[in-house]
Amino acid sequence: MNYRHAFHAGNFADVLKHGLLCWIVNYLQQKEAPLCMIDTHAGRGIYDLSSPEAAKTAEAGQGILKILRQDAIPAPLAPYVQLVRAQAAGAYPGSPLLLAGMARQRDRILSCELHPQEAEALRLATAQTPQVRVIEGDGYRKLPGLLPPAEKRGIVLIDPPFEQPDEMQVMADVFIRAHRKWPTGVYMLWFPVKDRAAVARFLDELRSAQIPKLTLCSLDVARPEGLSASAVLLANAPYTLKGEWAPALEWSARILAQGEGATSKIENLTEAHEKTAGERA
Ligand code: SAM
Repeated sequence: MNYRHAFHAGNFADVLKHGLLCWIVNYLQQKEAPLCMIDTHAGRGIYDLSSPEAAKTAEAGQGILKILRQDAIPAPLAPYVQLVRAQAAGAYPGSPLLLAGMARQRDRILSCELHPQEAEALRLATAQTPQVRVIEGDGYRKLPGLLPPAEKRGIVLIDPPFEQPDEMQVMADVFIRAHRKWPTGVYMLWFPVKDRAAVARFLDELRSAQIPKLTLCSLDVARPEGLSASAVLLANAPYTLKGEWAPALEWSARILAQGEGATSKIENLTEAHEKTAGERA
């Protein structure tokens, strides 16, 4: 394993991914019913922004630390920013800790992590949150067996490290299979926008799998070197996503811009199915 999220924690891609994650969970929690929240690639849970790894890339300085300096935070980003502000100074919460921070007693969080050291760190970081179960192993392989969850409501985050050349293909296959087992869950798939042809192939494959209600949110911070853009593909996102997030993402692009031409976009890739008479009955 080479990838360690400690080098990237709190960067502009985390702001997009974690902002959307917290907003969606907050939205789903407007109903009383319990949620199941599954993280296929969970990481270690908490990151020290003063660690040598974080200091080496200084990515948080171009990400969450810029956001935290703003006086007025757009409403959709507020649940996320509030959770980050609640951490000890210099600590950044990864997805499992954000979910743990939002979980009600009746909610359940299943966090898969392949690497034993990261999984052990995650167990320690979530030891006080009984709603969290750390599942050590390959999240791609574990996911189908976790679906559909008994709660019938919830979210799946697929956030791999993109170390393997075929990661987009694997992610597409796993998502299509997962969606067949649990078509009503909310899904969030994060990916870097580097190889635009690979991204186009990935989106085409999902369109041709006829998965309804797919939305793509992307943010390009016009970074002169290295990763400049990333995106989150959502399935079954709340219907208010576009209306609420378009201005929040435009704001994020402005605040996080590292050069001329920073942009954001939200597009519906596929619409809701027209219900057949049989489905309506
Ligand atoms: N989701 C985390 C967050 O938002 O804070 C960050 C996850 S990081 C991008 C990817 C993580 O996946 C790393 O901790 C890595 O060790 C782990 N990983 C790599 N391959 C995996 C696999 N097949 N199954 C589960 N975890 C994996």
